[in-house]
Amino acid sequence: MLRQYPLTKAQTIALLEKYPTPFHIYDEKLIRANARRLKKAFEWMPGFKNYFAVKALPNPFIMKILKEEGMGADCSSLAELVLAEKAGITGENIMFTSNDTPAEEFAVAHKLGAILNLDDISHIDFLEKAAGIPEMISFRYNPGPLKQGNVIIGKPEEAKYGLTREQIFEAYKIARERGVKRFGLHTMVASNELAEEYHVGTARMLFELVVEIKQQLGTKIEFVDLGGGYGIPYHPGDKEVDLEMVSRLIKKDYDELIVGNGLAPLEIVMENGRMVTGPFGWLVSRVRHIKNIYRTYAGLDASMANLMRPGMYGSYHHITVLGKEKRPNDHKYDVTGPLCENNDKFAVERMLPELEIGDVIVIHCTGAHGHAMGFNYNGQLRSAELLLRENGEVVAIRRAETLDDYFATLDFDKLEGFKA
Ligand SMILES: *Cc1c(COP(=O)(O)O)cnc(C)c1O
Repeated sequence: MLRQYPLTKAQTIALLEKYPTPFHIYDEKLIRANARRLKKAFEWMPGFKNYFAVKALPNPFIMKILKEEGMGADCSSLAELVLAEKAGITGENIMFTSNDTPAEEFAVAHKLGAILNLDDISHIDFLEKAAGIPEMISFRYNPGPLKQGNVIIGKPEEAKYGLTREQIFEAYKIARERGVKRFGLHTMVASNELAEEYHVGTARMLFELVVEIKQQLGTKIEFVDLGGGYGIPYHPGDKEVDLEMVSRLIKKDYDELIVGNGLAPLEIVMENGRMVTGPFGWLVSRVRHIKNIYRTYAGLDASMANLMRPGMYGSYHHITVLGKEKRPNDHKYDVTGPLCENNDKFAVERMLPELEIGDVIVIHCTGAHGHAMGFNYNGQLRSAELLLRENGEVVAIRRAETLDDYFATLDFDKLEGFKA
């Protein structure tokens, strides 16, 4: 079920005086309630923790809320490590799952005491030179043809991530020889996956590998990280992932494979981003122009720079019109932004109530991979991010960009003396 936009039309119009459109707004109460639901569903798992994938919503105010709800941070770049530190998330509450990693970033992550999750067998040497060998190392497993992929992340054997099955065994051997004492095993094979069996299968695959690693190498894995990728209902007809069912089925495999082989306790962690914040954010925008040519176009004051998913992946994002929720969806629109790119569309041939200039449009499920994927192409500025607090107050947790921000890397003074 899709979450309802939490403000009324009157409340939203009042907000516009202080915060002009477009902006993303997130709902703290719903984010907290969902975080507790996740924690409760998996509470039987030894050491359960969700490391929030920072890339989904890299805002330290949100991260601080999530930390209070027991989450860690899954980081993959220097900026994300800094955000985690600013939000008070440190040490082994940071999972550093990066790829094509610069040496400096390994050094910073190591200094923060983060868990280093290596993407390649060659990174053991690379890490040793960059930062030294830590006490604990995790490896990212790419099952290749042994696991089916899905639309966003693609097939594992075509994905750039992780170590092959053979390399995984070799990697633990090398790591142990270099003095590593504690080991983790990670995989991330799905994105926006709604099927419960898929997530259960991922856990089972890692449990089986943990058993094999113990049998072949004598190495005991301390934790498995099942990755993220839990889907959310973007479409009003989608259902939510049944976390209790996933949990129950994973427990069955855990009891059989891990407890049954005397390998308990094995810690189980995850790194979901999308399902943590995605459903609880909305992009609010207004209709700027309505244009009738071969199709009818509703031009918004938001663009693909505020929400790239529809243009980039053809993703569905539900759209409602404030104050017109009860009217019939009997008009067909392409809902667009101002970019000079024809994929700058939030929806194609979408049935909506009849639109007028000035209508307030709400685009749903923008709490993950929304503002985060913003960009400045075509001179577009990134929007503000607002937070609806539990007491009903709305606060800005990021201001909108200005032209000064956009031009900050240019020195116009130098232009004076520059001979063209
Ligand atoms: C993107 C990503 C995640 C989070 O994925 P979601 O679909 O947002 O849950 C977790 N781990 C890694 C390594 C990622 O790249």
